[in-house]
Amino acid sequence: MTKKVLIAKSAGFCFGVKRAIAIADETAGKRGGGSSGEDPIQSLGPIIHNPQAVERLQEKGVRVVGTVDDISCGKVIIRSHGVTRSDRAALEGKGVTIVDATCPFVTKAQEHARTLSREGYAVVVVGDPNHPEVKSIISYIEAGVPVFTSIREVAEAKGVRKAGIVAQTTQSFDNLAAFVTAAMKRFPEVRVFNTICNATALRQQESTGLAGMADVMFVLGGYNSANTRRLAEICQAINPRTHHIETDKELAAEMVAGASVVGVTAGASTPQWIIEGFLERLKGLWKGESIQVSFYR
Ligand code: SF4
Repeated sequence: MTKKVLIAKSAGFCFGVKRAIAIADETAGKRGGGSSGEDPIQSLGPIIHNPQAVERLQEKGVRVVGTVDDISCGKVIIRSHGVTRSDRAALEGKGVTIVDATCPFVTKAQEHARTLSREGYAVVVVGDPNHPEVKSIISYIEAGVPVFTSIREVAEAKGVRKAGIVAQTTQSFDNLAAFVTAAMKRFPEVRVFNTICNATALRQQESTGLAGMADVMFVLGGYNSANTRRLAEICQAINPRTHHIETDKELAAEMVAGASVVGVTAGASTPQWIIEGFLERLKGLWKGESIQVSFYR
Protein backbone atom coordinates (compact mmCIF):
# COMPACT_ATOMS: atom_id res chain seq x y z
CA MET A 1 0.00 0.00 0.00
CA THR A 2 1.23 3.51 -0.83
CA LYS A 3 2.46 5.47 2.15
CA LYS A 4 1.27 9.08 2.23
CA VAL A 5 3.04 12.15 3.56
CA LEU A 6 0.86 15.23 3.87
CA ILE A 7 2.68 18.50 4.48
CA ALA A 8 0.76 21.54 5.71
CA LYS A 9 0.89 24.13 2.91
CA SER A 10 1.80 26.89 5.37
CA ALA A 11 4.47 24.86 7.22
CA GLY A 12 7.63 26.83 7.92
CA PHE A 13 8.69 30.46 7.66
CA CYS A 14 6.07 33.18 7.70
CA PHE A 15 6.56 36.29 5.57
CA GLY A 16 8.22 38.30 8.37
CA VAL A 17 10.68 35.59 9.36
CA LYS A 18 11.58 34.85 5.75
CA ARG A 19 12.28 38.54 5.26
CA ALA A 20 14.35 38.82 8.47
CA ILE A 21 16.49 35.83 7.52
CA ALA A 22 17.01 37.22 4.02
CA ILE A 23 18.10 40.56 5.52
CA ALA A 24 20.49 38.79 7.92
CA ASP A 25 21.91 36.63 5.11
CA GLU A 26 22.41 39.66 2.93
CA THR A 27 24.12 41.59 5.74
CA ALA A 28 26.43 38.65 6.46
CA GLY A 29 27.05 38.14 2.73
CA LYS A 30 28.14 41.74 2.25
CA ARG A 31 30.90 41.23 4.79
CA GLY A 32 31.88 37.89 3.38
CA GLY A 33 31.68 35.62 6.40
CA GLY A 34 32.77 35.52 9.99
CA SER A 35 36.42 36.54 9.78
CA SER A 36 37.74 38.57 12.69
CA GLY A 37 39.15 42.06 12.31
CA GLU A 38 36.06 43.31 10.50
CA ASP A 39 33.13 45.16 12.03
CA PRO A 40 31.02 42.66 13.96
CA ILE A 41 27.48 41.81 12.89
CA GLN A 42 25.18 41.24 15.81
CA SER A 43 21.53 40.42 16.28
CA LEU A 44 19.75 41.77 19.31
CA GLY A 45 18.43 38.44 20.58
CA PRO A 46 18.20 35.39 18.31
CA ILE A 47 16.75 36.38 14.92
CA ILE A 48 14.36 33.45 15.09
CA HIS A 49 13.49 30.84 17.67
CA ASN A 50 15.22 28.02 15.87
CA PRO A 51 18.61 26.91 17.20
CA GLN A 52 19.73 25.30 13.93
CA ALA A 53 18.97 28.41 11.86
CA VAL A 54 20.67 30.65 14.44
CA GLU A 55 23.72 28.38 14.33
CA ARG A 56 23.89 28.67 10.54
CA LEU A 57 23.76 32.45 10.80
CA GLN A 58 26.48 32.36 13.44
CA GLU A 59 28.69 30.42 11.03
CA LYS A 60 28.16 33.26 8.56
CA GLY A 61 29.29 35.74 11.20
CA VAL A 62 26.04 36.89 12.83
CA ARG A 63 26.55 36.87 16.58
CA VAL A 64 23.62 36.90 19.01
CA VAL A 65 23.84 39.45 21.82
CA GLY A 66 21.49 39.71 24.77
CA THR A 67 21.25 43.45 25.37
CA VAL A 68 22.16 46.81 23.88
CA ASP A 69 24.92 47.06 26.51
CA ASP A 70 26.74 44.16 24.81
CA ILE A 71 27.09 46.18 21.60
CA SER A 72 29.75 48.78 21.00
CA CYS A 73 30.33 48.89 17.25
CA GLY A 74 29.50 47.29 13.91
CA LYS A 75 26.07 46.36 12.62
CA VAL A 76 23.02 45.40 14.63
CA ILE A 77 20.15 43.46 13.11
CA ILE A 78 16.78 44.14 14.70
CA ARG A 79 14.70 40.97 14.54
CA SER A 80 11.19 40.57 13.19
CA HIS A 81 9.31 41.39 16.39
CA GLY A 82 10.97 44.76 16.73
CA VAL A 83 12.75 46.65 19.45
CA THR A 84 11.73 49.22 22.04
CA ARG A 85 12.10 52.88 21.25
CA SER A 86 14.64 53.30 24.06
CA ASP A 87 16.79 50.42 22.78
CA ARG A 88 16.71 51.91 19.30
CA ALA A 89 17.69 55.32 20.68
CA ALA A 90 20.52 53.72 22.67
CA LEU A 91 21.80 51.99 19.53
CA GLU A 92 21.62 55.22 17.58
CA GLY A 93 23.54 56.91 20.39
CA LYS A 94 26.33 54.36 20.01
CA GLY A 95 26.66 55.15 16.34
CA VAL A 96 26.26 51.53 15.24
CA THR A 97 24.62 50.67 11.91
CA ILE A 98 21.05 49.51 12.47
CA VAL A 99 19.78 46.88 10.05
CA ASP A 100 16.06 46.85 10.66
CA ALA A 101 14.37 43.47 10.05
CA THR A 102 11.21 44.37 12.00
CA CYS A 103 8.22 42.69 10.31
CA PRO A 104 6.11 45.37 8.57
CA PHE A 105 3.03 44.01 10.39
CA VAL A 106 4.72 44.70 13.74
CA THR A 107 5.73 48.17 12.55
CA LYS A 108 2.04 48.81 11.73
CA ALA A 109 1.02 47.85 15.27
CA GLN A 110 3.69 50.16 16.70
CA GLU A 111 2.49 53.02 14.48
CA HIS A 112 -1.15 52.54 15.44
CA ALA A 113 -0.24 52.53 19.13
CA ARG A 114 1.69 55.77 18.72
CA THR A 115 -1.03 57.46 16.68
CA LEU A 116 -3.75 56.48 19.15
CA SER A 117 -1.77 57.83 22.08
CA ARG A 118 -1.07 61.09 20.21
CA GLU A 119 -4.77 61.48 19.46
CA GLY A 120 -5.67 61.25 23.15
CA TYR A 121 -6.75 57.62 23.33
CA ALA A 122 -5.78 55.36 26.21
CA VAL A 123 -4.22 52.30 24.60
CA VAL A 124 -5.21 48.69 25.16
CA VAL A 125 -2.51 46.29 23.97
CA VAL A 126 -3.79 42.73 23.58
CA GLY A 127 -0.89 40.34 24.10
CA ASP A 128 1.75 38.99 26.43
CA PRO A 129 3.27 42.01 28.19
CA ASN A 130 6.56 40.14 28.64
CA HIS A 131 6.95 39.39 24.94
CA PRO A 132 9.50 41.58 23.12
CA GLU A 133 6.95 42.47 20.43
CA VAL A 134 4.46 43.77 23.01
CA LYS A 135 7.21 45.65 24.82
CA SER A 136 8.16 47.28 21.52
CA ILE A 137 4.53 48.23 20.75
CA ILE A 138 4.05 49.70 24.24
CA SER A 139 7.26 51.72 23.90
CA TYR A 140 5.67 53.65 21.02
CA ILE A 141 2.84 54.91 23.23
CA GLU A 142 3.46 58.49 24.31
CA ALA A 143 4.47 59.04 27.93
CA GLY A 144 1.63 59.67 30.38
CA VAL A 145 -1.01 57.84 28.31
CA PRO A 146 -2.79 55.03 30.18
CA VAL A 147 -1.90 51.56 28.86
CA PHE A 148 -3.92 48.44 29.61
CA THR A 149 -2.77 44.89 28.87
CA SER A 150 -5.40 42.80 30.65
CA ILE A 151 -9.18 42.56 30.60
CA ARG A 152 -9.18 43.19 34.33
CA GLU A 153 -7.29 46.46 33.87
CA VAL A 154 -9.79 47.49 31.20
CA ALA A 155 -12.75 46.60 33.42
CA GLU A 156 -11.31 48.58 36.35
CA ALA A 157 -10.10 51.60 34.35
CA LYS A 158 -11.20 54.96 35.74
CA GLY A 159 -11.52 58.35 34.11
CA VAL A 160 -10.95 57.15 30.56
CA ARG A 161 -13.42 58.33 27.90
CA LYS A 162 -11.83 56.92 24.80
CA ALA A 163 -9.59 53.94 24.23
CA GLY A 164 -7.87 52.44 21.22
CA ILE A 165 -7.01 48.78 20.84
CA VAL A 166 -4.08 47.12 19.09
CA ALA A 167 -3.00 43.49 19.30
CA GLN A 168 0.22 41.53 19.31
CA THR A 169 0.37 40.11 15.79
CA THR A 170 0.19 36.48 16.96
CA GLN A 171 -2.89 36.87 19.16
CA SER A 172 -6.07 34.92 18.47
CA PHE A 173 -9.07 36.70 17.07
CA ASP A 174 -11.18 35.42 20.01
CA ASN A 175 -8.88 37.06 22.52
CA LEU A 176 -8.95 40.37 20.67
CA ALA A 177 -12.75 40.14 20.51
CA ALA A 178 -12.91 39.57 24.30
CA PHE A 179 -10.87 42.75 24.87
CA VAL A 180 -13.08 44.71 22.47
CA THR A 181 -16.19 43.57 24.35
CA ALA A 182 -14.67 44.52 27.72
CA ALA A 183 -13.58 47.91 26.38
CA MET A 184 -17.01 48.65 24.91
CA LYS A 185 -18.58 47.97 28.30
CA ARG A 186 -16.18 50.38 29.97
CA PHE A 187 -15.42 53.26 27.59
CA PRO A 188 -17.85 55.48 25.66
CA GLU A 189 -15.55 55.49 22.61
CA VAL A 190 -13.53 52.52 21.40
CA ARG A 191 -11.34 52.39 18.31
CA VAL A 192 -9.97 49.04 17.18
CA PHE A 193 -7.05 48.22 14.92
CA ASN A 194 -6.98 44.57 14.05
CA THR A 195 -3.21 44.11 13.90
CA ILE A 196 -3.38 40.31 14.06
CA CYS A 197 -1.38 38.64 11.32
CA ASN A 198 -3.04 35.54 9.93
CA ALA A 199 0.20 33.50 9.73
CA THR A 200 -0.40 31.94 13.15
CA ALA A 201 -4.10 31.22 12.65
CA LEU A 202 -3.46 29.70 9.22
CA ARG A 203 -0.80 27.32 10.56
CA GLN A 204 -3.07 26.32 13.42
CA GLN A 205 -6.09 25.70 11.16
CA GLU A 206 -4.12 23.58 8.72
CA SER A 207 -2.40 21.60 11.48
CA THR A 208 -5.74 20.92 13.16
CA GLY A 209 -7.16 19.42 9.96
CA LEU A 210 -4.03 17.46 9.23
CA ALA A 211 -3.67 15.99 12.72
CA GLY A 212 -7.19 14.64 12.40
CA MET A 213 -6.36 12.78 9.18
CA ALA A 214 -2.87 11.48 9.89
CA ASP A 215 -1.93 8.24 11.64
CA VAL A 216 1.11 10.02 13.02
CA MET A 217 1.66 13.76 13.18
CA PHE A 218 5.04 15.54 13.25
CA VAL A 219 5.52 19.14 14.33
CA LEU A 220 8.94 20.42 13.33
CA GLY A 221 10.63 23.37 14.99
CA GLY A 222 12.59 24.80 17.88
CA TYR A 223 11.68 23.70 21.38
CA ASN A 224 12.14 27.38 22.27
CA SER A 225 9.60 28.49 19.66
CA ALA A 226 6.28 29.40 21.29
CA ASN A 227 4.30 29.11 18.05
CA THR A 228 5.78 25.66 17.31
CA ARG A 229 5.04 24.43 20.83
CA ARG A 230 1.48 25.70 20.48
CA LEU A 231 1.09 23.80 17.19
CA ALA A 232 2.34 20.65 18.95
CA GLU A 233 -0.21 21.13 21.76
CA ILE A 234 -3.04 21.61 19.29
CA CYS A 235 -2.04 18.52 17.27
CA GLN A 236 -1.49 16.43 20.41
CA ALA A 237 -5.01 17.20 21.61
CA ILE A 238 -6.38 15.82 18.32
CA ASN A 239 -3.85 13.10 17.60
CA PRO A 240 -2.06 11.40 20.53
CA ARG A 241 0.61 10.13 18.10
CA THR A 242 2.02 13.64 17.73
CA HIS A 243 5.78 14.20 17.94
CA HIS A 244 7.42 17.60 18.29
CA ILE A 245 10.98 17.29 17.02
CA GLU A 246 13.63 19.85 16.08
CA THR A 247 15.42 17.95 13.32
CA ASP A 248 15.31 14.70 11.35
CA LYS A 249 17.94 13.22 13.70
CA GLU A 250 15.16 12.66 16.24
CA LEU A 251 12.97 10.74 13.80
CA ALA A 252 13.05 7.08 14.84
CA ALA A 253 11.55 4.12 12.96
CA GLU A 254 9.21 3.23 15.84
CA MET A 255 7.58 6.66 15.62
CA VAL A 256 6.11 5.76 12.23
CA ALA A 257 5.62 2.04 12.86
CA GLY A 258 2.38 0.84 11.27
CA ALA A 259 1.51 4.31 9.92
CA SER A 260 0.36 4.79 6.35
CA VAL A 261 -0.45 8.52 6.55
CA VAL A 262 2.10 10.87 8.13
CA GLY A 263 1.20 14.52 8.67
CA VAL A 264 3.89 17.20 8.82
CA THR A 265 3.63 20.77 10.00
CA ALA A 266 6.22 23.29 11.14
CA GLY A 267 6.29 26.53 13.08
CA ALA A 268 6.70 29.96 11.51
CA SER A 269 10.37 29.90 12.51
CA THR A 270 11.25 26.51 11.02
CA PRO A 271 13.50 26.68 7.94
CA GLN A 272 12.57 24.80 4.78
CA TRP A 273 15.78 22.74 4.92
CA ILE A 274 14.62 21.23 8.25
CA ILE A 275 11.39 20.09 6.57
CA GLU A 276 13.33 18.72 3.60
CA GLY A 277 15.78 16.91 5.91
CA PHE A 278 12.85 15.29 7.69
CA LEU A 279 11.34 14.10 4.40
CA GLU A 280 14.63 12.63 3.26
CA ARG A 281 15.03 10.68 6.48
CA LEU A 282 11.45 9.48 6.39
CA LYS A 283 11.94 8.26 2.80
CA GLY A 284 15.06 6.47 4.02
CA LEU A 285 13.09 4.71 6.75
CA TRP A 286 10.46 3.71 4.21
CA LYS A 287 12.95 2.54 1.63
CA GLY A 288 11.38 0.18 -0.89
CA GLU A 289 7.84 1.44 -0.15
CA SER A 290 5.76 3.44 -2.58
CA ILE A 291 5.51 6.98 -1.14
CA GLN A 292 3.28 9.86 -2.16
CA VAL A 293 4.12 13.36 -0.86
CA SER A 294 1.56 16.12 -1.18
CA PHE A 295 0.54 19.41 0.39
CA TYR A 296 -2.44 19.88 2.65
CA ARG A 297 -4.44 23.08 3.04
S1 SF4 B 1 3.91 35.98 12.38
FE1 SF4 B 1 3.13 37.61 11.07
S2 SF4 B 1 3.69 39.50 12.16
FE2 SF4 B 1 4.95 37.87 13.03
S3 SF4 B 1 6.83 37.93 11.85
FE3 SF4 B 1 5.48 36.43 10.86
S4 SF4 B 1 4.43 37.62 9.27
FE4 SF4 B 1 5.30 39.09 10.69
